[in-house]
Amino acid sequence: MSHAYLDNAATTPVAPEVAEAMMEVHRSVFGNPSSTHAPGRKAKALVETSRRRIAELLNVPPRTICFTSGGTEADNHAIQAAVGCLGVTRIVTSAAEHSAVIKASEVAGQVDRIEVVHVGHHADGTVDLDALANVLKASDAKTLVSLMHANNEVGVMVDLARISALCRAHGAYLHSDTVQSMGHYPMDLAELDVDFLTCSAHKFHGPKGTGFLYVHPTIRIDGMIVGGGQERMLRGGTENVAGIVGLTRAFDLAHAHMSTHESHIRGLKAKMVQGLKSRLPEVVFNGDSDREDRLYTVLNVKFPKHPNGGMAVFLLDLEGIACSGGSACSSGATMGSHVLRALGFHDPDRASVRFSFSRYTTEADIDRALEAVTKVFGTQPAGSKA
Ligand code: PLP
Repeated sequence: MSHAYLDNAATTPVAPEVAEAMMEVHRSVFGNPSSTHAPGRKAKALVETSRRRIAELLNVPPRTICFTSGGTEADNHAIQAAVGCLGVTRIVTSAAEHSAVIKASEVAGQVDRIEVVHVGHHADGTVDLDALANVLKASDAKTLVSLMHANNEVGVMVDLARISALCRAHGAYLHSDTVQSMGHYPMDLAELDVDFLTCSAHKFHGPKGTGFLYVHPTIRIDGMIVGGGQERMLRGGTENVAGIVGLTRAFDLAHAHMSTHESHIRGLKAKMVQGLKSRLPEVVFNGDSDREDRLYTVLNVKFPKHPNGGMAVFLLDLEGIACSGGSACSSGATMGSHVLRALGFHDPDRASVRFSFSRYTTEADIDRALEAVTKVFGTQPAGSKA
């Protein structure tokens, strides 16, 4: 029997419609979009139709969409461009950001001597917006604020409109890593005033290795990857035509059925929350990830103290449940979670496990997960000193 896949914040399975659209490109469109002959023009048309469709769904001009190899590249590009092209000398971000943002900011700090400020969080894991306002007020330095819309580990969200208003009031640029929320929440960028947004296709049933950086129409930046001048000089390199088509098909599907997917996922998450609470009354949801106003695809559970805690993800895997205990590094080893540490949720005595859901998750997956949790954690009486 295959695994119940509850690690959709790490990646989602590719939708069959997406795979089919990509196969069609592989079968019939091989031209280089930069070539001027007919096969090249056919490929170029696919790239530009995709760009227009994504722009339409976000309510922005097509030229604001720069296709990338995914979220990591888009995060790096936004931060490097803010420093290199917009004269930013201070980055205000958070220790709970994805490592793409944390490390790109660190590099800017080390190489470009940029001041990097980490804004604080409330006890529930949400960003302290009063602290952000104070940081912005405290200095005239040209600033980039980079704060993720939805945290990939504990699901806390920020009010991007409020942050945008703060940034505008203090003349700061705003980047948001929207990797976990794009394709799951509607975004109208004619309304939401941000300078850069990051998107990654594989978080909403698109292919890995594709995404885009949204760049506000009034902003002029250079490419981070230089070469043949593709993407209007913003990103050199022959375009990943099939990937771009797959990204667009996935984005389209996500938007066409967004509220149906959302209510399906919220129903399953509520079932998981109830099932966990009734089996193990001592469970805690890190970042209050069971709350309605948290990212609905993510539930981060702190289990009661138990001898199996240290091996929880491994034991759940043996029981047929794919879930996560922290950010997976490239070797696949779990490194522990910088997010849980940064937000004060880390407890060496209690295992924290992230379960994350998608439109393909079923009630049977949740039942299996609850059974597995009972096997792994249910043998110890609550409050045990083990
Ligand atoms: N930002 C967030 C919040 C993520 O969850 C991820 C993926 O795990 C990334 C960035 C990186 O995206 P990609 O895997 O497309 O490079």
